[in-house]
Amino acid sequence: MENQSNFIKTIIENDLHSGKHTEIVTRFPPEPNGFLHIGHARAIITDFELAKIFGGYTNLRYDDTNPEKEDDVYVRAIAQDIRWLGYEPKNIFFASDYFDEMYHRAMILIKKGLAYVDFQSAEIISSSRGDVTTPGVNSPYRETTIDENLAWFEKMKNGGFKEGECVLRAKIDMASPNMNMRDPVIYRIVYAEHHRQGKKWVIYPMYDFAHPLEDAIEGVTHSLCSLEFEDHRPLYDWFVKETEMPKQPRQIEFGRLNIENTVLSKRFLRALVEEGKVKGWDDPRMPTLSGMRRRGYTPEAIRSFILSTGLSKINSTVGVDMLESAVRNDLSDKAKRVMAVIDPLKVTITNYPEGQGEYFEEDFHKDHPEYGSRKIPFSRNIYIEKEDFALEKPNKKFKRLYLGGEVRLFYAYFIQAIDVKYNDQGDIIEVLATYDPKTRSGSGFDERKPNGTIHFVEATQGVPAQFNIYKPMLNEDESLDLMDRFNKDSLSIKHGFVEQAISKTKVQDKYQFMRMGYYATDDDSTANHLVFNETVPLKTSYK
Ligand code: ATP
Ligand code: MG
Repeated sequence: MENQSNFIKTIIENDLHSGKHTEIVTRFPPEPNGFLHIGHARAIITDFELAKIFGGYTNLRYDDTNPEKEDDVYVRAIAQDIRWLGYEPKNIFFASDYFDEMYHRAMILIKKGLAYVDFQSAEIISSSRGDVTTPGVNSPYRETTIDENLAWFEKMKNGGFKEGECVLRAKIDMASPNMNMRDPVIYRIVYAEHHRQGKKWVIYPMYDFAHPLEDAIEGVTHSLCSLEFEDHRPLYDWFVKETEMPKQPRQIEFGRLNIENTVLSKRFLRALVEEGKVKGWDDPRMPTLSGMRRRGYTPEAIRSFILSTGLSKINSTVGVDMLESAVRNDLSDKAKRVMAVIDPLKVTITNYPEGQGEYFEEDFHKDHPEYGSRKIPFSRNIYIEKEDFALEKPNKKFKRLYLGGEVRLFYAYFIQAIDVKYNDQGDIIEVLATYDPKTRSGSGFDERKPNGTIHFVEATQGVPAQFNIYKPMLNEDESLDLMDRFNKDSLSIKHGFVEQAISKTKVQDKYQFMRMGYYATDDDSTANHLVFNETVPLKTSYK
């Protein structure tokens, strides 16, 4: 972001130049009611990067003003995901810690004749608000005296009313062209246990009232949020001013990030988790940061993807391919390159001496010798990918093994398929082949050209492994109900082999399985049962 210009950066620059601010303070304000998704990454990166560029700082503030849906599990997960992305908040705050101050500020409004307790039902309040063409109707409680309102509000706070019996409303303008200004509700009664405050409170501030006060209390200078809050800005400013907050933050909106065929809504993602459609919030199919981490996406890839989408005043929708290519770009240099056979077919090299074997020493990455090297075993028994063999060459593009044809094995020899074995069901279960000892590591090329180069894993030393292969979590048919769009084929599990060299792989280690794709070791992988998640297929897939 340092080298990019954007409209928020310009505003901040001007505010520093004019002396309006000497230090920039931003905040990321998630509601702890779910895990963070890739849309939140735009907000996080914008908040943290902008403050950083100008030598300021960013707070993480949990917007925990709604006691019913919030949970400490989410509190922990959110902090962890932000750190994983590479950011350290200067302070971690909870909006609920400001409840006393907010209560006090609401009293200021009442005392100024700018708030009143309304006993109308929620339905009446909503229907008497009017619409864009019709002004709202004043509540019969709008002109109640200040003393009465102070007494009622106190009674609300002390549990003297039932849930829904009354609310506190700001007294602004029932005819305002901005619907948000038509006497919005600022406090409601909720008898629920709050994750931090317990049962201390039975009145809870509404978002529109709470948020500007939270920002002002913390001395946030630029309160960055997504576009849907644009119409709320006049109300934001009204609350800061009328509650007489000493510091005035400025709200600036930016466009939301959407990704094609991906639903970025905590409510929907939570439903998938609760209905057991996915394994959890960190299921590698989920567009959550924890899901992406588990799948093998790197924070660097996510950051460069977000920055490449730019920042503007309009919502943007980008294709998944943009995110995937950022992941590939990052992993291309970082991931060790090894061989894995995901769907194995046995090959016996009949002219290779039985009981013997050899090793080829090869670098883990052709451009990065510093990643070290490993020994690749070779013998009479190997596995190749099932789809790398056909009885007959189906077309010219088929650069793999077929009966009578010859291919090169990466790092090893040319082999020619001479026969196959079938099981009782008529499936091919083994290929018999011969090798040419003169062709070690491609040296036979001047003599003849093999029909492509394929990967393999030596059978006696290859390590069994599970591979989780992913397809999009949602079907593209947008006419369906969200839940019905869940793609039941989004996970397929394969059992194959990896090179012995990575048998001690650790959770989150990343590899390029040659010709197959990028993979990451799953969180549940153990030494006795290796599990790899497909992060992203290779761009130039041979398939
Ligand atoms: P969801 O709709 O998924 O529940 P939310 O906006 O309600 O998301 P919050 O916890 O309130 O979730 O979000 C914290 C911050 O992240 C807000 O400032 C919000 O504007 C921002 N944010 C959420 N989704 C996106 C998105 N897709 N693009 C950009 N910013 C986003
Ligand atoms: Mg929200």
